[in-house]
Amino acid sequence: MIVAKFGGSSLADAEQFQKVGAIIHADNERRYVVPSAPGRQHENDDKVTDLLLSCHENVLSGTSCAALLDRVRSRFLKIADDLNINSDLLVKEMDEAQRHIKMGASRAYTASRGEYLNGLLLSQWLQMPFVDAARVIRFFRDGRLNHPETNRLIQEIIAPLGSAVVPGFYGADEDGSIHVFSRGGSDVSGALLAHGVNADVYENWTDVSGFRTADPRIVPDAKYIQDMTYRELRELSYMGATVLHEDAVFPVRLAGIPTRLRNTNDPLHPGTMIHYSPIRNGVTPIVTGIAGRKGFSSILIEKDQMNSEIGFGQRVLRILEEHGINFEHMPTGIDAMSVILTSSSLAPSREKILAEIDRAVKPDHLSVRDNLAMVATVGSGITKQYATAARLFTAIAEQGIGIKTMLMAPSELSILIGVEEKHLNTAITALYDAFIRT
Ligand code: ASP
Repeated sequence: MIVAKFGGSSLADAEQFQKVGAIIHADNERRYVVPSAPGRQHENDDKVTDLLLSCHENVLSGTSCAALLDRVRSRFLKIADDLNINSDLLVKEMDEAQRHIKMGASRAYTASRGEYLNGLLLSQWLQMPFVDAARVIRFFRDGRLNHPETNRLIQEIIAPLGSAVVPGFYGADEDGSIHVFSRGGSDVSGALLAHGVNADVYENWTDVSGFRTADPRIVPDAKYIQDMTYRELRELSYMGATVLHEDAVFPVRLAGIPTRLRNTNDPLHPGTMIHYSPIRNGVTPIVTGIAGRKGFSSILIEKDQMNSEIGFGQRVLRILEEHGINFEHMPTGIDAMSVILTSSSLAPSREKILAEIDRAVKPDHLSVRDNLAMVATVGSGITKQYATAARLFTAIAEQGIGIKTMLMAPSELSILIGVEEKHLNTAITALYDAFIRT
């Protein structure tokens, strides 16, 4: 049995609704559907969620949001009209939502109405029961997800129905107040539902045919990844690949349920399958994907006999902790350590931090290197082959690019190199040619 989540672009207008209908009816295993709110119909259009959020801002500042609400209303009515869906229920629910929003309903309630109304419309279109996410996705009053209770409610309320449309993005606390996930949060709702009903697969339908082996803005013909693991997904999305974030699908990862990324506009494309562990029947490629990000700085600390000074690293890291800074990587040597962090996190208290490190560990040398880009070459097969690192460094050296720092993740899943930001695209292209293009 499959839980299928459809993103906003997959439900932006009646034509997209028709595609979604065809996809659902093509496989009767697709029994639970999680919609986002209608997204952009074209580049200059607005997402319904953005219109609703602007409306909330207007209400807060005492300006009218009637025009924005009219736009939301006509988006939904046009879809219903184009699909010949009876809009009585939709109109009644829209009136009710508008009344609450104009009276100053919460930001979460206002934002959630896009998914709520779209869910109602989609359930009519697919002729599946509608279940309000407020009944099954349970939050604590402080806004954190109550995962065990959500799971219990899904099992109790949704599973016996055999099929349902459940809107994404929001839920409610035990008092009935609406809470939302962060933007794009319907991915989480879909994964929670897939976990709760114990789906065989969680399908995530968007407007791209899966995960690419490299950013297509850098490598325009980058191949699609057919199979990957959740850990590879984490490494790649952390380093800048944006299709899906691993933390958005934690419920299915924890439950060992695979996620499949599919394209609503190209439903015959197999997309990308994300598994818990590497598939064994196929040939695991050495490198699954390459991703990189700019905007890193590296603090370099050198001191003679550093390795015999107990607590040296801890004193440095405590300073970062006290400033609320997360460090990303920490390549070390015998008498030198470096801490790599995002330049934006270092900027606000840079001078203070350096002075504190100077005082705490009295280094012989202390400096910061900026404008670093980190590039991750990711793959469960990396350590299964000799000479992967040799190939990697050769590919970079052949482009005349100097490597400023490097490390192999202890998971042995990725090799990270730091290069000057201006070399990021060339480095990614060279690695793509070395490992994937062939
Ligand atoms: N509609 C919400 C957003 O635009 C949630 C989602 O699409 O997943 O962020």
